[in-house]
Amino acid sequence: MVIALLAIFILSMAVSVYTLYQLHKLEDITKSILVIDNQVIDLEKKLWDTLPAMISAGEKYLITEDEELKNTFDEDKEVFDKHLAEINSIVDTEEAVVFLTAITDNYKKYQRRFNEEVDALRSSSGVSGEETAEEQKKDKRENTREILVDTIMLNLKELRIYSQTQFLSKTFNKVGELNVTEGRVIKAAIGITITSLILILIISILITINITKPLAAMKKKTSEIARGDFGDHLELSSPPEIQELEQAFNAMSTRLKELDTMKTDFFSLMSHELRTPLASIKEATNLLVESLRNGEITERQKKLFSIMKEENNRLIKLVNSLLDLSKMEAGMMVYAFNRSDVFSLIKRAVREIEPLAEAKNITITIDADQGLPFIRVDNERILQVLRNLIGNAVKFTPKDGHVKVLLKNFEQGIKVSVADTGVGIAKESLMTIFDKFQQEDVLTHFHKIKGTGLGLSLVKHIIKAHGGRIWAESTLGQGSTFTFVLPA
Ligand code: ADP
Repeated sequence: MVIALLAIFILSMAVSVYTLYQLHKLEDITKSILVIDNQVIDLEKKLWDTLPAMISAGEKYLITEDEELKNTFDEDKEVFDKHLAEINSIVDTEEAVVFLTAITDNYKKYQRRFNEEVDALRSSSGVSGEETAEEQKKDKRENTREILVDTIMLNLKELRIYSQTQFLSKTFNKVGELNVTEGRVIKAAIGITITSLILILIISILITINITKPLAAMKKKTSEIARGDFGDHLELSSPPEIQELEQAFNAMSTRLKELDTMKTDFFSLMSHELRTPLASIKEATNLLVESLRNGEITERQKKLFSIMKEENNRLIKLVNSLLDLSKMEAGMMVYAFNRSDVFSLIKRAVREIEPLAEAKNITITIDADQGLPFIRVDNERILQVLRNLIGNAVKFTPKDGHVKVLLKNFEQGIKVSVADTGVGIAKESLMTIFDKFQQEDVLTHFHKIKGTGLGLSLVKHIIKAHGGRIWAESTLGQGSTFTFVLPA
């Protein structure tokens, strides 16, 4: 996990660096668009502006021979030459060089023709005769210069169109580049956002797991302790704060275990101590009833003796159950296992309970599969289980109800279900009724049913000791089904 985190961190750093690089590039391209070289266009404009003024001054000079005009011509020429030299030094494309070579050649030709004209003008001054021939020659030279100027103007125009096209295409290219880089920056920004989100998600999940995992383990352990199962100490690999909590939790668990052992020992001792006097009281009561049977005994005395006997029996049963439970919890219960036919045990338990069921007009039916295997059981203890389950079914079923005992083949062993049409058990109590001293107060009170709340706890211990398991299903007001499975 740490490696994965490190990898994601490095990845997000790399994406960030890449984004910075792309942003820098974006800035460069933007700047370069602003300074796209249009120097050629500027110089061409200057040439275009200077040329007509220079030609005009030169041509006028050739007519008027006004030295002022010659000076203007020379000044313009100087400017034109300078711009021409500049533009020649910066053009870099083949096409532009062709245009400039043409301009330079024609310009040089024009200069030559102009100088020839100036020379001719100066040498012919004061000479008369052959005037018509000279005039004709002059006209011809003038024509040639005019053609040369037109050609230069045309070449300049072509150069301008070419330079403008170049400028536009360069700008378009840069804008295209800008678009691509912008796309990359957006992608990188999305990448950073996604990796950051993933990083945050992973870190939150890690923190949550780190905290919730030990807490869930503690919650589970708390439920186990609440059920009286102390087991081993918690061992969690967690942050220091949770480890402190874990230590406190383990200390609490140890203390609770000690208290539980003390309580079990106390119950065991008390039960043991109570058993002998209770048995004596039972014997004495029986003898007293026997001796009084022949003598005078009032109805009220009879009733009191019967209550005494009933309560004494209940106490003996409770003490026996407590003793059994403390032995089972301490793992000291001794079982006498034999291969037995569980069907006959069920029939025996039903037979014992039938008088009680008949008094409430409850029918008990047994439905068993054929060819059931013999199971390794302690007959007395399984009988105790069946008595408790069938007894409870009859106890918590109103008059005219029905109790059904099902015996089925299950995997290699058997499955026994005791279903009744009784009052049912609330959903939240289904998990706890197997804990000791658990009784559903409302129902018990409503039906005025007395119990110890130890029966199902003993049943669970016995089934566990046989390698089986037991559970209950119920719907309030409709009935309950207790099922246990036993291996072969
Ligand atoms: P008790 O001696 O009170 O019967 P048990 O451990 O056998 O003790 O049962 C615990 C509680 O489970 C009962 O008090 C009763 O509330 C509930 N219970 C057990 N069996 C049934 C049943 N068949 N129908 C409804 N409630 C039941």
